[in-house]
Amino acid sequence: MKISQVEMVISAVKPEQYPDDGLPEFALAGRSNVGKSSFINKMLNRKSLARTSSKPGKTQTLNFYKINNELFFVDVPGYGYAKVSKKEREAWGKMIERYLTGRSVLKAVVLIVDLRHPPTGDDRMMYDFLKYYNIPTIVVATKADKIPKGKWDKHKKVVRETLEMDKEEPLILFSAETGVGVEETWAVIQKFM
Ligand code: GDP
Repeated sequence: MKISQVEMVISAVKPEQYPDDGLPEFALAGRSNVGKSSFINKMLNRKSLARTSSKPGKTQTLNFYKINNELFFVDVPGYGYAKVSKKEREAWGKMIERYLTGRSVLKAVVLIVDLRHPPTGDDRMMYDFLKYYNIPTIVVATKADKIPKGKWDKHKKVVRETLEMDKEEPLILFSAETGVGVEETWAVIQKFM
């Protein structure tokens, strides 16, 4: 996919603020520090468009990136940050739930996990939530460059088994360092558009 234009359109916290262009949206979800910002930057071929917004004290917003006037990436604040208060966690949950369950133009959620380790309890919770609401999910296992190629299949299997993924569901290997998985991810996204 050739990226000719990217624009951060809005940081939203409520539905009235979501864009109303009617373009297809793909939400990016993952636990804090998993590599979500790096994933977005690599996919969009930008150095530092997306920044880590999951640090405590920072506003937790849904960031809408308009791409080629064709689709949106919606960056969802990372989950599982230990130092977040219960109140903040609840506010996060409400905002995310409202977006994920009520957004008609949402085509799929890209759930980013770390290929090196089995998905965490939080990862499983997010995945189960998406399944429960029948939201199409594209699982991307990132930081593949940290694992020798010969072990990729073994690690993929652990991800699939831990999340209890269906056989037909896509699991893509990714690296923001080497760019492996960029084209495959775009191909899968385009199928959902
Ligand atoms: P976020 O909090 O999920 O947005 O995570 P970041 O994108 O900020 O990444 C967290 C850390 O992991 C940073 O130090 C990145 O440089 C590193 N990182 C992210 N993706 C990769 C990757 O594919 N390979 C390697 N080796 N490191 C990565």
